[in-house]
Order: sequence, then structure tokens, then C-alpha cells
Amino acid sequence: MHGRAVSYEALPAVPPALAALGWAPQLASALEALGDGELLPMRVQAADRGSYELLGADGPMTAALAGRVRHDAGPGELPVVGDWVAVEPSPPTIRHVLERRTVLRRAAPTGALQVLAANVDVVFVVSSLNRDLDARRLEQFVAVAADGGAQPVVVLTKSDLLADPSAMLAQVRPVTRGVPLVIVSAQRGEGLEELAPWLTPGSTAALLGASGVGKSTLVNALLGEERQTTAPIKRTSDQGRHTTVRRELIVLPSGALLVDAPGLRLPELWAPEQGLAAAFADLDALAEDCRFSDCAHRSEPGCAVRAAIDAGELDPGRLAGFLELEEQTAGRTQRPWA
Ligand code: GDP
Ligand code: ZN
Repeated sequence: MHGRAVSYEALPAVPPALAALGWAPQLASALEALGDGELLPMRVQAADRGSYELLGADGPMTAALAGRVRHDAGPGELPVVGDWVAVEPSPPTIRHVLERRTVLRRAAPTGALQVLAANVDVVFVVSSLNRDLDARRLEQFVAVAADGGAQPVVVLTKSDLLADPSAMLAQVRPVTRGVPLVIVSAQRGEGLEELAPWLTPGSTAALLGASGVGKSTLVNALLGEERQTTAPIKRTSDQGRHTTVRRELIVLPSGALLVDAPGLRLPELWAPEQGLAAAFADLDALAEDCRFSDCAHRSEPGCAVRAAIDAGELDPGRLAGFLELEEQTAGRTQRPWA
């Protein structure tokens, strides 16, 4: 076929509105492979009992889930906030969930897999810089944050409460080796700029932390004055402040997307590999010198981890924390969605 010249501008490109939502070339291929030109790519902004708030190139839409998708979904496979879905526009129906890049997941109190969010680049593990700060808890949060493939970043809040945080930091540093650490006071607006490298346009961040550690205050500080115009769907309290009602995706002035989730007291780790490696990089490195490659660091001869503890080079609490988390995940790797 000859005749019309095709300009470079006409070549398929990522529509700007989709790029702002985190759309990526792999997703475009996945959508194309479905072979139905009518399907629209949209991102799940919030999920509520079978009703889904979606964001796409042409704005928001509320959609239902196709019965077949619901029927075929294995554990943890129903759409969650952050998922990319292929939508039939009329009536608005989610026909497919596109393959996830990462997940934020945990073992629910029932022992079942719970996916909290999908396609998250970075998980901010939020903890307040006070007496509640506990090394073992922090390890567990970091492990859960990293479990599904996201980058964990520890964010210590309320720095204004301590005149000298150095003692607290000395306690935290050994458990955050290899994990970026940022100290902020959301109330004073201090340290927020250090989060900027992870809040680039189109990237997706999630907050993970217990109630009361300052997550909502941090979200409000990040939203700043622009919160009224940037949040695509706002849920505000009487004072007009942002409050966490359910997991939802919000757009920050920086162009990053943020999954705002309710507090979780202490989420249990789902799978052992990525989360433990991220939370225990020091132990992982030591283990390479254990005599047996499958050393459990309990009573095996030639255990380099125990040797490091005996030599005073590794806090015994580190190994205890590792073994406890490993135990949490026992038997779970065989499940369908691991
Ligand atoms: P969330 O449950 O994790 O969302 O925590 P909130 O954001 O609701 O904060 C819990 C309490 O900590 C509130 O009373 C906040 O005012 C307070 N708070 C949050 N951030 C800071 C901070 O940076 N400094 C101080 N001093 N208090 C803070
Ligand atoms: Zn060992």
C-alpha cells in the first residue's frame, strides 16, 4: 500500500494521560494480546464490594467485574487498588486483569493470601520516632513491604518530638541496612523532600504502618495546598482534611500515585524469599559462608551466622527475628499464587 505518508507523530505512543497513571509498554503488549480493540486500559483507584472506581485516559469510571473474571480468579487474583484492567466501556465491565509487576501482600489473620495493592514501585514503611519503635516490628514491616517485589523505604516520622534522635537511630540502623531510611516531621514539613526520588511522575508508592504513626498527616503534607484539585476522588472529613477510609490511589502534586491504606498493626509475611532477603541483607551475606548451603542457622556445624553472633558481630535478636519470620511463612510457598 502506497500513498499516505505516516508521520512519526502518528506512530503508537503511550497516551500522556495513561503515562501519568503509570502505564508501561509491557502493559500495552498485554492489552494488545487480548485482541479486542474495544477494551480500554484503566487503573483501579478503589475497590468496594464488587464495584470498582477506575481511572483512565478519559477520566474516571465506575465499573463492575465480569462474572467470568470473578469465577476464574485464584487466591489474591481479584482486582485491587493499583491493578491495570481491560474494560468494556458499555456497560462498564472489567474483562481482564493485566499481569501485575509487583504486589503488596500479606497473610491475613485467617492465613489466606491478601493482596493489598498491585503495581507498587515503592512501599514506605512508616513508623514514628518514639518509644514504640521496635527493631523486630520494623524488620517484619520491611519484609512484608519487599515481599511482592516493591522497593522498601523506612520513613521515621515525628522527628520534632525528639531533641536528639541519635539513640533511637542507633537502634534502627542495624535493622535497616541496605534499606533507604528517611526521617521526617510531617507536622513541620521537614525531610519531605527526601522522599522526592521515589515520588516521580507516574510512579506508584504505598504506605504501610500501624495506626497513629502519622500516615494521614504525611499524606496531607505531601498533598499540600494542591490536594483539592489533584486528588481525583476525595474523601474528606468535616474539617476538609484527608482521612483514610479505605485503600485508594491518590495523585500527588509531584505526579506520583500514592496508595493510601488503613493502618495494619503487624502484617504477617506471605512468602520467604524477597522479603527476608531485603530485611536481612546482613544475615544473607553472612550465610554465604555457612558450611551447608541450606544451613538453617540453628545448630549446624560451620554456621557463619552463629559464629558472627558468638564473635559479637551480629545482634542475636537479628537471627531470632529472621527465624521467626521464616517460621511465619512455613508451608505457604506451595500455594497457587506464591
Ligand atoms: P495515622 O493513623 O498513621 O494516619 O496517623 P495520623 O496521621 O492520624 O497521626 C497520629 C497522631 O500523630 C496525630 O495526633 C498527629 O497529629 C500526630 N502526628 C503526625 N505526624 C506528626 C509529626 O510529624 N509530629 C508530631 N509531633 N505529631 C505528629
Ligand atoms: Zn548458618
